[in-house]
Formats: sequence, C-alpha cells, structure tokens
Amino acid sequence: MEHIAQPARNSPFPHVQVPYLCGQLSPFSPSEYLKWQANPSAWFASCRDDALDDFAAKIQNHLYFGLLSAFLCTKVEHASFLRTNDDGQQCIDSVQVQNTLRTWQNDPTSWSSTTPTFRSRQTTEAYKKACENPNRNALRAFKQARQEDAWPMLRQTWSVVSDLVDYLLTSEFDSKADLWSQPAYGVFFSVDILLDQLYLALYHSDPRFRDPLRRSLAAHFPPLRNSMRKSGRCPSLPWRLQMSATDCYRLLFLPTHSPPQDHDSCTSQRCNSFASPKTQHRDDCGGCPSIESNLKTVLQCISEDSIPLVRCEEDEQGNVTIEIVKGNLLSDYTAISHVWTGGLGNVIENSLPQCQLQYLLRAVTNLPPAPQFSIIDPSNDPWQDLRAWFLSRIPSRIKHALNQASWKAPRRQALFWIDSLCIPNNKEHTSISDANREEIESSKAKAINSMAQLYAGAEKVLVLDPEIRELPSELVSDDNELLALYIRTSPWMARSWPLQEGALAQNLYFQLKDRSLLLEDSHYDLIGLRSLKMLQYYKEYEAMSKTDADWRDPYSRFVSVWNGLVNRTTTQADDLPAILAAMMDCSAGEVLEFTPQERMRALLKEESSLPLVLFYQPTSLVDGHWTPKIPGSDERQTLIHPMYGSFKVTERGLVLEDVYETFGFVLDAAPDDDVFAFLIKGVENKYWRYVISQEAGTVPSGQQRAAQTFFLLSNLCATDGSNYHGARFAIVQEESEELTIQHEAPVLYNCFDDVVTPRGSERIYTNCKEVARLGKRGFDLILDIGTCILAVPSRYKRYAKQEL
Ligand SMILES: [Zn+2]
Ligand SMILES: [Zn+2]
Repeated sequence: MEHIAQPARNSPFPHVQVPYLCGQLSPFSPSEYLKWQANPSAWFASCRDDALDDFAAKIQNHLYFGLLSAFLCTKVEHASFLRTNDDGQQCIDSVQVQNTLRTWQNDPTSWSSTTPTFRSRQTTEAYKKACENPNRNALRAFKQARQEDAWPMLRQTWSVVSDLVDYLLTSEFDSKADLWSQPAYGVFFSVDILLDQLYLALYHSDPRFRDPLRRSLAAHFPPLRNSMRKSGRCPSLPWRLQMSATDCYRLLFLPTHSPPQDHDSCTSQRCNSFASPKTQHRDDCGGCPSIESNLKTVLQCISEDSIPLVRCEEDEQGNVTIEIVKGNLLSDYTAISHVWTGGLGNVIENSLPQCQLQYLLRAVTNLPPAPQFSIIDPSNDPWQDLRAWFLSRIPSRIKHALNQASWKAPRRQALFWIDSLCIPNNKEHTSISDANREEIESSKAKAINSMAQLYAGAEKVLVLDPEIRELPSELVSDDNELLALYIRTSPWMARSWPLQEGALAQNLYFQLKDRSLLLEDSHYDLIGLRSLKMLQYYKEYEAMSKTDADWRDPYSRFVSVWNGLVNRTTTQADDLPAILAAMMDCSAGEVLEFTPQERMRALLKEESSLPLVLFYQPTSLVDGHWTPKIPGSDERQTLIHPMYGSFKVTERGLVLEDVYETFGFVLDAAPDDDVFAFLIKGVENKYWRYVISQEAGTVPSGQQRAAQTFFLLSNLCATDGSNYHGARFAIVQEESEELTIQHEAPVLYNCFDDVVTPRGSERIYTNCKEVARLGKRGFDLILDIGTCILAVPSRYKRYAKQEL
C-alpha cells in the first residue's frame, strides 16, 4: 500500500505488505468478474470451510485482480502489479496500480495496448470516436460513458465487500490479529483500498469527498481496529469519522505526541477513554495549592444575567491570583474549550491548581490577536526597533542589569471563562448549606443554558485538547492536511460540548505544544466536518440559496447538527437537548421546558424536510408516538443523510419526497419474533430472503396490533458486518391512494439469495408484497409525529402476491 503517503516522517510502523497469494489460480477475465459479482452468495457459502490463506487467495484473485480487470475492461497481467520485497516474497505493488490508473485517467485512448472490451455499446462507440479524432469533446464523451459504465459495477462490488465482512465475522476469526501480524487480513483490506483508488480514478474527485452511500469495509473490519489500537489510537475512529480505508490507513502511521491513552474498553463505535475527569497537576509540578474562585461572586453574576469572568494575574514570583469579575458579551474575554480528561475540570469544587492556572494564563496571554483587532502588525512595532537600537549601544553588564529591572516582560494578566471556575459546582462541599445547594443547582442550570451565547460572544475561544497541546508546531507548520488529521482525531472532537463551543466560536484557537494557532477557512475545509463555524456556514448558505435558485445543499442544518453530535459522547446525556437546540439556533431554555419526549419533536417541527433514514434510528416510543432519540444518546445511531430519500414536513404530517435504493414491503402479518424472514420473488424466478431482526420489546403487543406490516429497507451504512437499516410500520388504514402507517420500530436486515444460503431457523413469511415504484415522486407520508400516513398517488400499484 505504498502508494499512500504516510502522513508524518518517523512513523514507528512499516507499510503493510500485501502478499501475492493467488498465483495458482486462473485469473478472472472482466466478464467472469461481472458474472461472479452479480451473485456471490453461493460462492461465499462454498468457501466456508477454506483455510484463511486459501480464502484470501481466492479473494485476491476475484476481488482484487478481477475487479481491476473489470474496471479497466481488459485482462490484466498479475505480474505487472507485483514486486519482490526485502524478504524475497512477492507482494502487491499498489504504486503500479496507481500508475496504471493515472494513465487510464489522463490518457484515455492509449493506456492499453489492446482494445478494451467495454460493457455497453455506447462506451465502445465513444471509444472509437475518441480514437479516430481525439479532440476534447470526444475525449470528454468517452470519459463520461466510461464513468456511467463503471459506476454500477463499483456499487455492486461494495455489496460484495459487505458479504466479505459478514463471512469474516462468522467464520473462524482471529480477533486479536492486526494488519501487520496476519498478512491474509492485509489482502482483504487491500480490496477496500483498491476501491478507493478506482473511485478516485473514476471521479477525479477530492480524496476527502466520499459517496455517502458507499459503505466502507474499514469501520467494520476488526484487524484494522486492532491495528488502530496498536498504533495508539482509538478503534472507534473509522466509524466515528466515517473515514475511507485510505484515510484509516494513513492514520496508522500518524505518531501520537501525548501519553498513551487506554482504548481497550472502546467499542467500534464509541470512545470510552474519558473515564477520568479528575483535576490534574501539570506534568512538571510536584504538587501545588488549589486556587478557588469566589462562589458568592459567581452566583451573583449569574443571578444578574452577567457573565462571571476570571481575571487572572501574575505576581512578581510568577504565582497567579484570580478574581471573579462581572463581564458581559462586550467584554474582551477568552472562553476555554477543553475536555475534562485533560485535567482542567473539577467535579468537586470551583478550583484549579496553581500550576494549571499559570499554564492557562500563559496560553491566553500568548494568543495571537483576533483578526478584527490585528490592525497593528506586531512584527512592525516601532518600540521593538528602538529597544533593539538602544540595547545594541550599551555595555553587556549594564544591559543585563537593565534586563533584570525595567526591560523584563510586564506581568501577565488575562480575562477568561472556564467552566471549572465559572459554573457553580460546589454542592458536594461539606461547608455548603441545603439552601445554598439549591441556589447552586439552579444557577448551574442557568449558566449551562447560556453557554451558547457565552462562546459566541467570546473574542477568542481557545481549545486545550490533551493531545493537540502536546503537538510541536513545527510538525504541522507547513502541512495543513496533517494538522486537520490531528484535529479530527483529537479527544476534543469526540465529546459533545466542544461541538457547540467550536461551532459558535468567532475566532477559534488551538493550543499546540509551543504556540497557539488561529483556525482559518482553509483548515475548516480540511477538517471537513460541518461542526465548526456552523452558524457562519448557514448564514452564507442562506444568502447563497437566495441569490442562486439552483443551488441546493442536500444537508439541512438539522442533518449537519445530527451528524456532528451523533458520534460524540458526554457523561451528561441531559446536556444533549441544550446543545442540539443551540446548534439549531433555538433557545436552549425554551426547549428544556418541554418533556424529554417532546423536545425532539419540537425541534423536528422546526424543519422543512427530514431525511428518510431518521426512521431507522433508535426511538423512544411513548404512547405509540415516534420520537427519535437525541443524537449522541445511543450507540446504535448512525450518521444521517437524505441520499435515500426525504420527507417534507406539512400540515398533515410528513410527505415522502424522493426515494432511492430503498424497498417497501407489505406483509400480511404482524410478526413479533426478534428475528424472522420474508421471501420475495426477484428476477429470473429467484427468491430473496430478507432476514429481519428487531429489538425485543420495541414492537407493541396486544389487541390493537394492525394485521399488516409495512417495511422500508435501505442500505444505510452498516452497523456491523452486513446488517442494513430499515423500519417497520403498522398499517393502520389502506385506501386506494393512501396507506396510513404508524412507526413501530427500526429494524436491521440482511438480504440473502435463499436458494443457496439456508441459515438459521427463523420463521419465514411468504405472504409479502413489494411496493412497486417507491422511487417515484408523489408518495405522501403524513406524520403526526406519532402517526404516519403514507398517501400514494393513483399510479401506485403493487406486484401481485407471489405464489410460492
Ligand atoms: Zn477510545
Ligand atoms: Zn500543580
């Protein structure tokens, strides 16, 4: 995988070598590959008893070289893509693959010595035209045809890759192996990497842009997660950041600069390495006194709607004293954004150790000026010149004395806000009376509700992340991509509150080891998550959609906030509605007055459109009312996007606008088993079995059960192996053009070609009908946020009931 540049020099790990294993097998031609990938389940089933290396060899022959040849539309010589490594072993040479693809891309008619066999006639015609007269138009037409030809094949391959993961997880699997220790797993991983290469070659696109419908093998591939752990990083990163295989691979070689974190208890979806919110001393401190903020002044500030700010000052010995002063949104203060695992929190009282306060004071006073205040270039300070001139003219002994006396740096002084000193938290303190405890509790709630304004109003927001603040600036000074990678993978990005703090900041600074850095627009683009400067982004978005009617961003603010919040964690799930509300520009206070069930619904009603995949998210079902859980509160939640379809919010409820790659089924039954299956007749008289699993207890029981069940199933990014997402609804009423449905539960499903993959002993339903033409516009799904009415147009029809 040497074609992927390692992100930093001096990586502690070597590149993963992918051994060439399939020399004994007869190579796949492009047409053989297409035939095989159209229905690989029988093949997978027949391989179940293979030894790992034998299976890896087959995968390499089919899914690596077979795919490559199908993509290039010509037979490929394996030998052209091999090299001999230092141990004399034959390995895949991904650099050669990359070179071939580059020529294929840039030199579309002359990259192959023989005439390629294209799948469609149009592509063949376009190729001939481009060869006869290679002008720009002809070449463009050929590239376009080639793209349309290859796209469905790549899509289909991604499904096969999911089957592959499923196979790996169910057959004998070495759960401890990583990509270095077990080369066969490197073979599987190389398929996902190859898909990245092909995708990039096809679309010339930015490597950071990814098709949201594409499911990457990476997040579900245990050997990669083990490799992440081995390299000192959290195994949940591939899932949380939905990284491509190539990005994941790069991350394995990114050295860490902070003390090693323990990620043993982290799952594939969540980082749990935040267990210790304990206040810590600086590494070089052997112990120092705690400095407490004045609780009375803090409480007074909050009761008067002003902001309690810390005025921090250094004395002649370099010790720091603090005083709480009344501030407001016009005060020039710096708000500190940190994760408690970094040692700057305090769960017992409002205090911080002297050493930490000294560090904070240095960090805040060393911040470069915020842009709107930086009219004077500090490097052009006339006093500096004068001082230098004066110093150059005096004898060194006097110079030294002068330095000691009047030329030394002025005492540092700063005004900042940090939660551990400014949100009252002393309720556990023994000296506090019950009445005070109550006052503290209500002030605390008030302070938390005004956090959004506080961060938005700060002149500067300074991020103190336990890993990034150990990062030497010289490593990233001329490499913004590397900096972005460090920021994306930092603990600060894994917690819920920082999303709001970073998103609302006017000027966001990151403290590195030796200096701090103001994030610029180019950084935000590279970090690639809409979780920073979100409000600014939406202001620009609104302006843009007003001036350009064609310009439409598929990601609504709700979707962006959901995706920003869903893979982060917090110890206080009660905080999430406040964060969600603030990020959606609603009043946190108002939203918190609703009951927990009402909060989410209230926020959803603010939206004009909702993605269909929201129905596939964990719900808190109360009185039959559908309410998705707050993003970030449940590990089973996924990123959402409108690529499978969306619902318009209307008076009657939700209207289904568009549906893509989603199937609707009506079942004449109300199955309540945890796992069951239904059979659907597909093309060529083949039956497909959909195995549905639903969480026990999510399906209502009793007499009010509807006799029919409606399912929506989409290939939403898998949660584990090849489980896809869907939802089940009860059919309440059926009319000629309307189907009234009620949300019951999200489900997971797998789809198998039934004839060849008998598995499990689950009950099978055969009285099931596919709802045709679900992909057309005009379906109305009306949602009383508890009840959905699916109104379908007159052209609505179903396939006749399948006779089995
Ligand atoms: Zn972790
Ligand atoms: Zn200390």
